[in-house]
This record gives sequence, structure tokens and C-alpha cells, in this order.
Amino acid sequence: MSSLLRKVFSRRTLVLAAGGTGLAAGGGYWFLNSGPAYPQSTRETRRAPPPWTPPSRAEMLAALKASGQVKSGAAVNDQDEEFDLLIVGGGATGAGVAVDAASRGLKVALVERDDFSSGTSSKSTKLVHGGVRYLQKAIMELDYDQYKLVTEALHERKIFLQTAPYLSHMLPIMLPIYKYWQVPYYWVGCKMYDLLAGKENMESSYLMSKGKAMETFPMLKTDGLVGALVYYDGPSLVTLADPQLTPYTGQHNDSRMNIALIMTAVKLGATVANYCEVTALHKDSTGHITGAQATDTLTGASFRIRAKGVINATGPFSDTLLALDDPTHKPIVQPSSGIHITLPNYYSPRKMGLLDPATSDGRVIFFLPWQGNTIAGTTDTPASVERAPVAPEEEIRWVLEEVRRYLSPDIRVRRGDVLSAWSGLRPLVRNPSAASTEGLVRNHMIYVSGSGLLTIAGGKWTTYREMAKETVDTAVEAFKLQGRVKSGCVTENLRLVGSDGWTRNMFIGLIQRYGLETEVAKHLSDDYGDRAWTVCSLAEPTGKAWPLHGKRIAPQYPYIEAEVRYAVTHEYAQTAVDVLARRTRLSFLNVHAALAALPRVVDIMADELNWSLSERKAQIARAVAFFESMGLPRGAISTMPAPLPRGRLEKAWAWVTSGFGLGLGGGGVKELASGTSLRYGRARFEPAELAALTAAFDRHARSVLVDGEREEVVDRARVRDAVCQVAGYEGVSEKDFEYVLDEAGVRERDGVDFDAFIEICGSLKEVAFSPESVVKKHHRLRIPVEKSGGGV
Ligand SMILES: Cc1cc2nc3c(=O)[nH]c(=O)nc-3n(C[C@H](O)[C@H](O)[C@H](O)COP(=O)(O)OP(=O)(O)OC[C@H]3O[C@@H](n4cnc5c(N)ncnc54)[C@H](O)[C@@H]3O)c2cc1C
Repeated sequence: MSSLLRKVFSRRTLVLAAGGTGLAAGGGYWFLNSGPAYPQSTRETRRAPPPWTPPSRAEMLAALKASGQVKSGAAVNDQDEEFDLLIVGGGATGAGVAVDAASRGLKVALVERDDFSSGTSSKSTKLVHGGVRYLQKAIMELDYDQYKLVTEALHERKIFLQTAPYLSHMLPIMLPIYKYWQVPYYWVGCKMYDLLAGKENMESSYLMSKGKAMETFPMLKTDGLVGALVYYDGPSLVTLADPQLTPYTGQHNDSRMNIALIMTAVKLGATVANYCEVTALHKDSTGHITGAQATDTLTGASFRIRAKGVINATGPFSDTLLALDDPTHKPIVQPSSGIHITLPNYYSPRKMGLLDPATSDGRVIFFLPWQGNTIAGTTDTPASVERAPVAPEEEIRWVLEEVRRYLSPDIRVRRGDVLSAWSGLRPLVRNPSAASTEGLVRNHMIYVSGSGLLTIAGGKWTTYREMAKETVDTAVEAFKLQGRVKSGCVTENLRLVGSDGWTRNMFIGLIQRYGLETEVAKHLSDDYGDRAWTVCSLAEPTGKAWPLHGKRIAPQYPYIEAEVRYAVTHEYAQTAVDVLARRTRLSFLNVHAALAALPRVVDIMADELNWSLSERKAQIARAVAFFESMGLPRGAISTMPAPLPRGRLEKAWAWVTSGFGLGLGGGGVKELASGTSLRYGRARFEPAELAALTAAFDRHARSVLVDGEREEVVDRARVRDAVCQVAGYEGVSEKDFEYVLDEAGVRERDGVDFDAFIEICGSLKEVAFSPESVVKKHHRLRIPVEKSGGGV
């Protein structure tokens, strides 16, 4: 007994017990304090922050022009008007550089030929990720540089959440597991990654039982499912198993993040202008670049901008600017395109994404909740550089096919469920100063040409800040701006516009103050941060008992009319597309809803920008063309009400052009299209069309006995003949027809009844007559993991 007591209270046992207790206490403390640390707001959040109206676009253009004007009699410009840096391109890269340079005290100009974020930066997968592909290389090849790339991206991911907390959030991603042996394999890999991510890791990954996985993601296919792995960034062994795998952790609203960067740069003193294209570079007698020639694409006015240094941040268009500098320049951009589709929200849980690392052709596919809907997409198809890339029909169907493989068989995702589709170009680059055999650079590339054009290209959204820091460091050296900067890089702690007074509960204050619907208040808080107060101050009363403010522009989405006014007065929106695609995200979420909202949006913008009747018509035509590029069926404009004349002059002119009110003239006002079409299920048919389809069905139908009842059916093999006899359906291809039969699930049936027949015709209208029904065959290429820029 005494020897037992002696053993229990021996020094060794006591040391071990104390150590164990200390370890448990430390572990417990670490656990309780782990997880995402949402930064506290720095201001009172129940009150509006001080109002701020940025300088107007006209003032910005005046400042740009002033920099290039030679004073009468003066040989050189007034140095005060000259910019330190002129940044060309207003995507993530250019906007990030503008924020960095302006926050160091430099005099910065930024011009964008279209709208801010109209390029790749509004068309990404919207993920902020650690680039775990590099980790796989780091482990397999003991490559320290690769490891550094991962930790760098993880570090940036954390800063993203700190500097713009309202625009990004954590998103757990599920990897369903269908084989038992994969469970320990993935789990160990996952924990290794957690360990390596160290202090930059925000949440630990975990395993889910089959039951829990089904509860979290009820749409998942249960057949053969053994469990799931949930991670906030990638498990390394999963990646080892398939190098294409890149799991992610954070999600953001890419174009709103881009606008927040632009507005932060403006607040720091930068001069910015959208719809301003650089068409030439100016050089002095020694061949050194002294500025650029720019054209205001809205008016056609061309002017000169003077700057000590010019930065080429034009993404996939980097070669165009490099060729302006040196016409003999050899292209360095190898664009790779990626497409995304938006599906209704019922296809994914609200707070869990899904990743398929091994699709039928080896690409990775994502299936993520975003802004209340579901987006699915993939990347890495070689492409050519074009200003408005469109998602090819073949790619859309491929994504749908892959999504179906993961969902329960009782869910048939259909082509007609696609609410919007878009394509983006990733600017993968070669280093021009490297040997010609050198491949694509691993991440981003900074290159200063002999005449002083600084090009920054490649990289990814997640690392925009680090890219900007390196770019401005290089610019300060290359353009000798040491005497002009007041500090080094400060962006790690620089909170973007909208962040200071924001907390996760700010939306409650908005509801209490303005009487908004909860969904609207949450959306305003999440998209504008503390600027949501200013948006609300522009909202007109609804005139209803509830909500008191917040008239929606589309009934099923939380965007309100006040946002349209705010976009024009506070965020430089110049066209209806700017509002519907990038200030709000309506056209990315649902092109049909965007089309329905268009007339009202144009009306409000006309108030703010003094648009004439012809300008309003032009805006509508331009927006419809844009929506068609995102999947809106052609011809939708014929169902749109034409804008009505406003003001005495316009009304008088409309009266004259309509033949003095007798309807003799051609121009004038067109009333809303008659709306004679009929709805059958969710497809829309003209009455004559429906009659013709019914007649075609009757001609081919035969009577059969089903469960003791007589029913008319058309033999499955004859359905196509029947449909193709109807005017308008003659050209339906065999391939489209087979696709639709699959979607309708009638392939196994002998006979097709009238309901199924009409459903097939409805699907044909959605599939075969979709804008890009010409199926393009793409040569698919696997971009090397370590050179893909780290995107999806
Ligand atoms: C499909 C896809 C998915 C992606 N997903 C992710 C992701 O989930 N996470 C992530 O971190 N990264 C992702 N990326 C990468 C990321 O989106 C890009 O790296 C980033 O947006 C590139 O920004 P940029 O400013 O360099 O290019 P862009 O956004 O294309 O901006 C370049 C701008 O320059 C303008 N311009 C061109 N010529 C001129 C001129 N002469 N004068 C004035 N302006 C000019 C263009 O109009 C354009 O707006 C993805 C990329 C793709 C393609």
C-alpha cells in the first residue's frame, strides 16, 4: 500500500500530472480562443459614420486632363499637376496598386477603359484561398519556395478578412467520401495541413459521419456515401492524391471588393476614371515614358495624362499595352478561361460548399452557395484574349453533368435551371526577361521594360495586396519616387472604405432606423459596410405599413432603388450594366430578374445623369446585349416596355414623331408588348405554337392502357419527328434532342404522354434556342499545378 502511495506521489508522477494538466489547460484555452477573430469596429455602429461624397467623374477627368496640359508659354508642365503614377486597368490588380501607392502618399491616377472590375475580377469563383496546391509540391519535393507561397496566401487570406470584414466570410467546403480507405487517408492529410497552416489557420478541418453529411447537405447522393471531410483550407493528402485539387476557405463578393478598393484609393486622394482607355504611350527624347494618351470612351474626347511612371495592370490585355511600348514585343499572356453558372438556391445548403477533385475529365469543380443562390464552375480551358468572353454551351452542359453526379437521383438539375452563366479569363504569364523556353510563372510577375513601363500580371484575387506591395516597391525604385513617399507599405492594417463602423450586427440598427426588411438590411450591411447608412439615407419611403423604406428593384432579390442612386453618386456607375452587374450582382444571380429590373434602373439613372430618351433606349439595348452574353435568350428585348418620354421637350418631340398623336410616325413611344404568350409549366408558348404542338402530338399519338386507364402517348422514337414538324422547331439537332430526353428522364420509357411531350418542348426552348447553342468543341489542357496562378 505504502509503495503504491509512494509511486502515486513520486516526483515523476507529480511532474507528469502537472505537465498533463498544464497541457490540457493550454489546449483548452487555445481551443476556446481559436476560430475566426472578427475584428471589432472602430466606430459607433448604431450611428451613421460621417457622410462622404467622392469627387465626381467630371472632376476626376478635369484633374487627369490638367496633368497633361502645357501652360501657355511654359516649356514643361506644372509639376504639381503631374502624377507620380498612372495605373492602367481598374481590376483587382490595378485597384490594389492604387490603394497601396496612395496610402504611401504618392499622387496616383488610375484609368479603366470599361467599368471598374468589368474584366476577370468580377468573374472569379469568389474564393479567398490558401493555394494548397503549392503545399502538395512543398511536401512532395521538399520545396521551401512552394511552402512560402502557401503561407503567403494563407496570410493574405487573413488580411482580407481584417481589412474588408463585411465583404468576405468563412466558407467550409465539403468533400464527400465514397470509399472507406479514403477516410483515414484524407483525415491525416487534413490534420497535417492544419498543422502547417499554423497561426494563419482559422478553423480546423473535421470528419463528418454519413448521417451528419446528409443532414448538412441533404441534396447529396447517398448511394455509396461513407462520410465527408469538411475543411476551411485544403488537406494536403487529398491534394497529393489529386494535384488538381485546391480547396478554399473564404468567400467574397469580388466586384464589390474591387469597388471598395477603388473608393478607398479615392478617399486616400487618388484620381480615378472608368470608361477611359489608354490608346498610346508618350515618351521623351530619350525614349523614356512620360505618360499616356487616354480616350474618354463615353464622349470620345482624347487627352494626355502626365506621370513619372506608368503601370500596366491590364490583366489578360497586358500584351496590348506592352505592344504600345514596343511594337516588336512578343506576347507573354497565355489566357485560360473558366466558366460559372448560377443555379437556384435549393441546390446547395446556405453555408456549405462542395468540391469535386476528380471530375470526368480531371478538372476540379466547385459548387458553392453565393449571395443567396448556388454557383458552380470550373477553370483552366485554354482560350484567346477577348473583351467579352461568353460561356460556351458545351461547358455549361459539362458543369451540369458533373453537378448531377453528386446530387441525389431524385434531383434532376436541368439546363433551364441555369439563371446566369459567365466566363472569365485568367491572365497566366511568362516572364519576358526569362529565356524563351521558360514556361508560365508560378504566381505573378513584375517586369519593367527598357523605356520604363512597369507590368504587373498573373497572381490571383487572394494575393492582390501582396502583388500591389511588390509593385509599388518596384515602382518607387524604378521611377525614383523615394523622395515622394511618406512611408513604406501600410496596407496590411489599412481598412477599406465601409469597414470602420461595421459589425455583424449593424443591420439591426439599419432596421430600427429605416424600417427595412431584414433580408434587405443584411444585404446592405454585407455589401456596403458602414456606407449602408448613406445608401439608406437615399431611400424613398415605400408608402406601406412595412417595410417603411427599401423599394426592391427585383421582387425576389434584396437590391433596392436607393442603391442605384448611390451607385451613380458615390461609386461612379455610368451605365445600367454597371449597376446591374457590378454594383449590385443581379445579372450574375439571375439575368431574367436583371432584365425585369432594367427599365426602373434606367429611369432612376436618367434622373441622376440627365439621360435623354435616346440615351435611355441605348442603355436598354446595351444592357440587353450584355444579358444575352450571360445566357438571356435572344429576342427578350421585344417583351420590354420602351422608355417613355419625360419632360415637355421629349413629350412634344414624341408627339411630332408619332404623326401628331395619330400614330402615323415610326419613332415615338412603343407600349409594352402585348404579352399574349401562355405559360405551360415554366416554359412560355405562343397560343399558335401550343396549338401546333398539340396537333403534332395528336397526329403521332396512339392509345395505350396504363393502370387500367386509356392514355394517349407518342412512341419515344417518334417524338423528335413530331416536334420537328412544328414551325420553329425544325432545326433542333439530334444532340440537343437527346440531351433534353435525358433531362426529362424519359429515355427508358416507350411512350411519352402529353405532359412529358410539352415538358420536352419547353426544355428544347431553353436548351436549343439558348444564345450560344452552337456547341463549340474546346481542346482542354491541364495547366500545371504550380503555374496555374493558384486559382481554381
Ligand atoms: C474563372 C476564374 C476564376 C477565378 N477564381 C479565383 C478565386 O476564386 N480566387 C482567387 O483568388 N482568384 C481567382 N481567379 C483569379 C483572379 O480573378 C484574377 O487573378 C484577377 O481578377 C485578375 O485581376 P486583374 O486586375 O489582373 O485583371 P482584370 O480584372 O481583367 O482587370 C484588367 C482591367 O484592365 C482594363 N484594361 C485593359 N486594357 C486597358 C486599356 N488600354 N486602358 C484602360 N484599361 C484597360 C480591362 O478593361 C480590365 O478591367 C479566378 C480567375 C478566373 C478566370
